[in-house]
This record gives sequence, structure tokens and C-alpha cells, in this order.
Amino acid sequence: MVIVFQILFVLVLILIIILFVFRIRLKRTSEGIPLPENYRELLHDYVKFYRQLDEKGKEMFEKRVEHFLTAVQITGVNAAVEDIDRLLIGAGAIIPVYGIADWQYINLHEVLLYPGTFNADFDQGGSDRPITGMVGHGAMQHVMIITKWELRQGFINSNDARNTAIHEFAHLIDKMDGTMDGVPEIILERKYTDRWKNLMDSTIGRMKNYGSDIDMYGSTNPAEFFAVISEYFFEQPGLLKANHAELYEMLGRIYKTER
Ligand SMILES: [Zn+2]
Repeated sequence: MVIVFQILFVLVLILIIILFVFRIRLKRTSEGIPLPENYRELLHDYVKFYRQLDEKGKEMFEKRVEHFLTAVQITGVNAAVEDIDRLLIGAGAIIPVYGIADWQYINLHEVLLYPGTFNADFDQGGSDRPITGMVGHGAMQHVMIITKWELRQGFINSNDARNTAIHEFAHLIDKMDGTMDGVPEIILERKYTDRWKNLMDSTIGRMKNYGSDIDMYGSTNPAEFFAVISEYFFEQPGLLKANHAELYEMLGRIYKTER
């Protein structure tokens, strides 16, 4: 009988040790790489969207950036990943989904940071290097590529309706329903999808015929239109509202913003 108790005691002890070790492990992973000490200062200096939030909003933004950076790995490819790069990628991820409290980028595992532009074969040395960011497909599924230069410029020039990080994350949001077609069905209510499709098509048609203050790259197809107009919406909401009221209204519906 005594021996049975001894065995039980040892088993319970082993279980406690296992749980203890496991908990420490879990804690360590969930903490990931902490935000840099001066993250508030950096966010304030570089991210207009953050500057415009009230104190409570700023705190929420910081938490969500930290959570994103814990879940997604950021790897430099011939580029050093500096604190500011990590923070800006996190900011680019959270800005579009700030109005959607429970959002998770489940379709993203890693962001590759390239120093300069690259071509469609991911060749950094090629002469044709028009791409400044990309959402991976096929073997590169769950990977986003972004260039360091474009990432930073997107935030430094905060009044030109262009931000590569926001552009790429808009693509990911669009892609979450399985298709990258400019219609983010996962967040846009079904009753609005036809109206949104028609609005995209008519705007693209007008852009092609008459030009536009919207970046012409958006007229390539609805997926690019959605990414480009999302940059405009988050960088210069006031201007978009003045120039394209219906687009502004629909994007507010999509991104659940209250302005
Ligand atoms: Zn694009």
C-alpha cells in the first residue's frame, strides 16, 4: 500500500514539474521579442494614425501591435530588421483592422524585409524591379514581402495617400475569404457586396477614361483598386471624403471606422 502511495506521489510530482515547465515555455513564446523601450516615441514620431488617437486608443493600438509582432515573424533578407521596421510593419498591420476588435491575420506567418525593390522572381538584383511589396502565393503562401525603403517612406510621407504596408495588409484582408478580388467578404456585409463591386468597377472605368487623384495603379484590377483606395482612406480620410464621398462611406463600412 505504501508503495502505491509513493508511486502516486512521484507521478503527481512529475506532472507538476511538467506543467510548471510547460507554463514557463508558453509564457516565453507569448512574450516573444518585446517592443523596444522607446516604442511610444517611435510610434508618435512616425505614425500619424497613432498620433491622432486619444490615450486609451493609443494604448489599445500599442497592445495590438505587440500582439501582432508576437504572432508574426519578421525576417530580414539582406536587410537588418531594426526596431523601427518592426514597429512600422506592426502599425501597417493594425491600422486597417483597428476598427475590427477581434481581427487576427491567420493567413500570415512571416514578413520578409528586403532592402530595395525586387521583381516577380524575388530576385533583388534584377534590372526590372518594380515591386515594392507582395503578398505571397503558392510556395510563398502565408508570407508577405516588403521593402525597407518603401515601408519607411510610406510612413514618413503621411500625406500622399501612399503607404506600402497598408497596401499589402489590405491585400491580406481581401485574401482572407479565399480570393483576392477587391471584395473582402469576411468583413463586408453581404448586402453591400454588389454595391461595392459596382462602385469599384465604375470608379476604375472613370479612372481609365479621365484620370484621377487616386493612384492610377488602382485601375489595374479590383484587387489593386481595393489596396490603393485603402491607402488613401487611412492616410487622407478627409480628402477622400471630400473627393469621393461614396467610396469613403463604403470603406467606413468595410473597415468599421467611425469618423
Ligand atoms: Zn498590390
